[in-house]
Amino acid sequence: MRLLVIEDEVKTAAYLRQGLTENGFTVEVCANGGDGFDQALTVANDLIILDVMLPQRDGWSILGALRKAGKQTPVLFLTARDTVFDKVKGLELGADDYLVKPFDFSELLARVKTILRRGPARQPENLSVADLQMDLARRKATRAGTPLDLTAKEFALLELLVRHRGEPLSKTLIAEQVWDIHFHSDPNVVEVAIRRLRSKVDDPCPKKLIHTMRGVGYVLEER
Ligand code: CA
Repeated sequence: MRLLVIEDEVKTAAYLRQGLTENGFTVEVCANGGDGFDQALTVANDLIILDVMLPQRDGWSILGALRKAGKQTPVLFLTARDTVFDKVKGLELGADDYLVKPFDFSELLARVKTILRRGPARQPENLSVADLQMDLARRKATRAGTPLDLTAKEFALLELLVRHRGEPLSKTLIAEQVWDIHFHSDPNVVEVAIRRLRSKVDDPCPKKLIHTMRGVGYVLEER
């Protein structure tokens, strides 16, 4: 089982990593909300332990954006906030449980196990635009029922475009999200990847989905 911990307090993060690892979980820690959100969106985790007050992007915003993007990974909020308002807000946004700091590790572990016992995501993670279908769990995509032979990076690029359908994405953003690199390193990376992706996704079909927006970047949409 793979857990993502998004927590900026070094001590708490280390404590969680150690305790959860000892209990047989694979643990990835992100210390800020920006990286945490990227990991939560692009990596298949079984559960996310999410702090509320985080640098770059707070836990509310991360959870809201994940659910909006159709990502149903269970989330356990872990936070110093303990007002009724905060608990209700967390649960309304789609958190699965809520634990207030300071907490006992044994209680956290019990809650993690309870959430995981409920089983995987409540909804299958499938995305579609026109006749393009993406099965995120199996990392497979089809166009008009025909399987697309995509590399892992091409799949990640297509997933990013589909999740942001109708929204122009800059090459900088694409490079950061898909390759985790900063754009100034090589602007051609994104162009080449888009060209390859188009040859697989759009060239065989009369209806094009990936469009270039001059001076802006790329957008995926049904026109
Ligand atoms: Ca914090």
